[in-house]
Amino acid sequence: MYLILFGAPGVGKGTQAKILSEKFSIPHISTGDILREAVKNGSPIGLEAKKIMNAGQLVPDEIMIEIIRETLAEERCKNGFILDGYPRTTAQAESLTRLFRKLTISDYALICLEANDEEVVKRLTARRACKSCRAIFSLSEIENDVHCPICGAENSFYQRKDDTEEVIRTRLEVFQSSTKPVKNFYKNKNKLLVVNGLNPIENVSSEIIKGLNQMFPQKNY
Ligand code: AMP
Repeated sequence: MYLILFGAPGVGKGTQAKILSEKFSIPHISTGDILREAVKNGSPIGLEAKKIMNAGQLVPDEIMIEIIRETLAEERCKNGFILDGYPRTTAQAESLTRLFRKLTISDYALICLEANDEEVVKRLTARRACKSCRAIFSLSEIENDVHCPICGAENSFYQRKDDTEEVIRTRLEVFQSSTKPVKNFYKNKNKLLVVNGLNPIENVSSEIIKGLNQMFPQKNY
């Protein structure tokens, strides 16, 4: 299965990608996570990406295209993957189409999760992550916790630098201007599935599965 999770920041792409990745035993490829790892390691890409990410802007296409080309060539991606956060520009989408053609991948879908800006700002300002296992929580879920409920790490919660209201507003503007056209790119290819991202997590997952079964009736997901 080859899926692309698409939508504004904070709409729940990472949460759904994780659920689908476990359900179908295929890797969750988050370009945001790959870049944050590069920043943490101080690699050349990380050094270039750090400022751009903290400002809520997009890392240049050439860098992202190369990261995805290398990642999708890995053995673990051979039987499918879930892309989260890529493509974010039409140039990335065009390049991915060429890469899919080269890898003879034709049964793919872009799942577009939709939500309004105010809900997204509310979710992102309350978002916290565990440094140790990368699990994501809303503040209300971990308010009195010292230990991560998933991995048990102590005092491991942190807020991403780009989850402040000012940067979130920039990220939403970038989404509108540079990323949104990607949706039509896949609509024109008949590869688009639109799902309301505001519903409870389990309902969003079942809507996705239902939609995939309609798109690929021969597969029975
Ligand atoms: P995310 O974790 O998906 O919200 O990504 C965090 C940040 O990483 C974004 O705001 C961008 O600065 C950068 N980034 C992630 N994926 C891409 C991409 N496909 N193209 C350009 N920049 C990206």
